[in-house]
Amino acid sequence: MAQDSGSIEALLHEDRTFPPSEEFKKQANISDPNIYEEALKDPEAFWAKFADELDWIKKWDKVLQWDPPHAQWFVGGKLNVSYNCIDRHLTSARRNKAAIIWEGEPGDRQVYTYWDLYREVCRFANGLKSLGVKKGDRITIYLPMIPELPIAMLACARIGAPHSVVFGGFSAEAIRDRLNDSQSKILITADGGYRRGNIIQLKQNADESLDGAPSVEKMIVVRRTGHADENMVDGRDIWWHDLVEGQPLTCEPEPMDSEDMLYLLYTSGTTGKPKGIVHTTGGYLVGTYATTKWIFDLKEDDVYWCTADIGWVTGHSYIVYGPLANGATTVMYEGSPDWPDRDRFWAIIAKYGITICYTAPTAIRTFMRWGEEYPERHDLTSLRLLGTVGEPINPEAWVWYWKNIGGGRCPVVDTWWQTETGMVLITPLPGITTLKPGSATRAFPGIEAEVVDESGAPVGPGAGGYLVIKRPWPAMLRTLYGDPDRYVEQYWARYPDIYFTADGAKIDEDGYFWLLGRVDDVINVSAHRISTMEVESALVDNSKVAEAACIGRTDEIKGQAIVAFVTLKDHVTGSEEIVAELKRHVTTKIGAMARPDEIYFTGELPKTRSGKIMRRLLRDIAEGRTLGDTTTLADPAVVQALMEQYGEEE
Ligand code: ATP
Ligand code: MG
Repeated sequence: MAQDSGSIEALLHEDRTFPPSEEFKKQANISDPNIYEEALKDPEAFWAKFADELDWIKKWDKVLQWDPPHAQWFVGGKLNVSYNCIDRHLTSARRNKAAIIWEGEPGDRQVYTYWDLYREVCRFANGLKSLGVKKGDRITIYLPMIPELPIAMLACARIGAPHSVVFGGFSAEAIRDRLNDSQSKILITADGGYRRGNIIQLKQNADESLDGAPSVEKMIVVRRTGHADENMVDGRDIWWHDLVEGQPLTCEPEPMDSEDMLYLLYTSGTTGKPKGIVHTTGGYLVGTYATTKWIFDLKEDDVYWCTADIGWVTGHSYIVYGPLANGATTVMYEGSPDWPDRDRFWAIIAKYGITICYTAPTAIRTFMRWGEEYPERHDLTSLRLLGTVGEPINPEAWVWYWKNIGGGRCPVVDTWWQTETGMVLITPLPGITTLKPGSATRAFPGIEAEVVDESGAPVGPGAGGYLVIKRPWPAMLRTLYGDPDRYVEQYWARYPDIYFTADGAKIDEDGYFWLLGRVDDVINVSAHRISTMEVESALVDNSKVAEAACIGRTDEIKGQAIVAFVTLKDHVTGSEEIVAELKRHVTTKIGAMARPDEIYFTGELPKTRSGKIMRRLLRDIAEGRTLGDTTTLADPAVVQALMEQYGEEE
């Protein structure tokens, strides 16, 4: 296939299918497949039905105003997100239901009922007001995974001050950039957080970040560890507990316009300079509410756990806003999955009787590497549904998760979406969809997705190309903060009036989507355009391999040669024999043109702090270039070790 056709070759074949069980179907929130057709016939009516289930101060005049590439949803409507996530549940028996079950890494825990949450959010909202915070002021939140994090977000939403959450693993420099870009007035942090038995020095980073961030007037500090008492700056720093002391237990929610900004969030930066994604109020709430309800088949008595950090969009939409808008019980865990031992996640599931677990492929591949003995220690039979998000999931990892965590009983929903999309767009519906490991299956009802070639023409079944979204959706980003031109350039310039995701995908005979990774990661070998994802999945298919990352290195003859970095399972050691075996394995699985030219074994792969493989750094290493932006890298030592190893073996 010629490379200028703009398509990506579909190499890997997957035959296993998993239809929903009769039992699951019978109890599912949604089990009628006609919903897809119905929703696409009139998407605006479809979304309006969900909007009707929420509480509006003033109902909207118009569902959608679309002036490409700018959408407005529920135009003229007024509502408050914190009211919808909390107050709305206080008039029924839900008022004493657990809203947040939180567990700290050292084993401490707290439960907030909806009533507790109401009081804490109101008190903190009043505290913010007492510092002079007004509607429209931006507030940066740099906290560990503690209850004060969602409380602060909801308090911001209550008074109409957009939040910008910065993941607790980021450096002072990263916080400073984000404070300046957003011109935040307040920074909320903690005196530390626990991670793998250590204390993360958040206050120290926060202090340092303020050197050169003149917009910030006050810093609010949560006492989590008791380690920063000496560093409080007079007149600038205030303890959270002092701020809320004596504040009234009620706070009138600010009536917000549907299109008022709810928050901005800087993307993880897998590909470069962070972008400030702007999400607004009405559409975002409707989108996250609807997708949480249907994709996770949420019921009144579910105990739902999304293991992401709230510092990422997944935590915003599917730990905080989506679940709370649904009146669910949402679980939060502060620390690391291997503390004190590698069974911590499974211990948490057993302890709280978690019924729905939503995690990332990177975590699943790590659990695979550690082995089955850890989940086997615990009773996981409370689980009824599993989910994944963040990267394409290799079919072997999917099956491992399904079998070892789900006990072969729980549907696995592989959900594709982005910080920009605000809500899941491609996903199974667990009561309807026959699952295929490695496929995110179909667009959510009301969403129109397509795989197109360079010219914008749809590729046929079996072919690969670029994933695009063809009509606006409620939770879509509205712009990039302070950079409206980049918004247009980045997402709307390639195809007129169509959203460009920058992800590759293929579509199969059943119309299912298979995500192939970022467009930037596609490799050109002898005029074949190959997705790194498929070669990696062929490698992970070998029982000795836990994780793999492939990249293209410049090659005079072939254009690019495939270089694979492979992490083996814990009990296996790398050898020349295994290199040969893996090359053979890829050849048998998908063909000789995808056979890696070089295979390197490594204990770890370079990843972003959100756990995604950073292939561009691997490319830099293989090409012998200076490394690109490394500020979002989780562990710089991993790259250092790889550079040394690569230099030696070359
Ligand atoms: P940046 O855009 O700053 O480089 P990022 O794209 O990693 O960072 P996110 O918005 O958190 O930041 O991630 C969205 C991306 O993650 C998607 O574009 C896609 O590449 C990948 N992704 C998320 N979920 C899935 C999934 N279920 N299957 C395949 N890929 C996924
Ligand atoms: Mg992205």
